[in-house]
Amino acid sequence: MRIVALAGGIGGARFLRGLKEAVAPGDVITVIGNTGDDIHLFGLKVCPDLDTVMYTLGGGIHEEQGWGRADETWSVKEEMKAYGVGPDWFGLGDRDFATHIVRTQMIAAGYPLSAVTEALCHRWQPGVRLIPMSDDRIETHVRITDEQGSRAVHFQEYWVRLHAEVAAEAIVPVGADTAEPAPGVLEAIAEADVILLPPSNPVVSIGTILAVPGIRRAVADAAAPVVGLSPIVGGAPVRGMADKVLAAVGVEAAADAVALHYGAGLLDGWLVDTADEAAVAAVEAAGIRCRAVPLMMTDVPATAAMARAALQLAAEVRA
Ligand code: GDP
Ligand code: CA
Repeated sequence: MRIVALAGGIGGARFLRGLKEAVAPGDVITVIGNTGDDIHLFGLKVCPDLDTVMYTLGGGIHEEQGWGRADETWSVKEEMKAYGVGPDWFGLGDRDFATHIVRTQMIAAGYPLSAVTEALCHRWQPGVRLIPMSDDRIETHVRITDEQGSRAVHFQEYWVRLHAEVAAEAIVPVGADTAEPAPGVLEAIAEADVILLPPSNPVVSIGTILAVPGIRRAVADAAAPVVGLSPIVGGAPVRGMADKVLAAVGVEAAADAVALHYGAGLLDGWLVDTADEAAVAAVEAAGIRCRAVPLMMTDVPATAAMARAALQLAAEVRA
């Protein structure tokens, strides 16, 4: 079976770890990763979501934190601070720095991000084919109003520096509308037997991937069933700021509202948590097959069970 998953960072990566346990030997998983979170810092190109997937599946992730490297040290960051060179609000550890140096060096030598990602994965062996959504530069910006007035900030500044404390008024994936899908993306979608939307952020992770027009069209037109898992459980994100960015696009932080936001034109099946059993009827009424199952990724076996439920729902939709 050929499985395609669109993925953001922590939620996507943790789901993929369960999916790898759930599939049969010989099944192929292609991951289309979000690059809207990418940021240039200290002259380096940083791809937080691609790296979270790569480190999580490759065994290098800082488990409790969910991002960055295990056994990290912070000498470079401290030295930069001693020089008074910022920003100091974004955590880049010494081991992590090496990834960004390799990436930036390869890009400067003319390699597209997709080739660079493949090269980085050569070391990490994530067990999936990880492709960035696009080789073109895309950056998610957030419009806010604070004491400095109304302005747009990079998504990382909104989340990491400002802790999503002010309301997000608009989310703009700058560059997405003219971006082309990276090589391999459209082929993988067209050849897929199932397309999964992990419980990643529906606006700034999956929403950004779908903001590339060619990708949205391909997913909507795909022969394969598209099945998603709700990142909202009991009316709140399990972690992160999905409620803030959902509000910016006028969507309630509720399991059924997220399914309707994707819409029946895109989604064939949707899993909600058992806590949201009451949401099933509204989703089904919209023409999306819906089931309530436990959706907390407490450990790999629980996550694998979620992945199996998603694959089973896809099989039901297909039949
Ligand atoms: P990010 O890029 O690191 O923010 O990660 P993603 O976009 O891939 O995933 C973030 C989303 O994962 C958040 O909206 C969370 O609510 C969701 N999430 C995290 N852990 C869980 C979990 O155990 N279960 C479910 N259903 N969602 C989760
Ligand atoms: Ca992210």
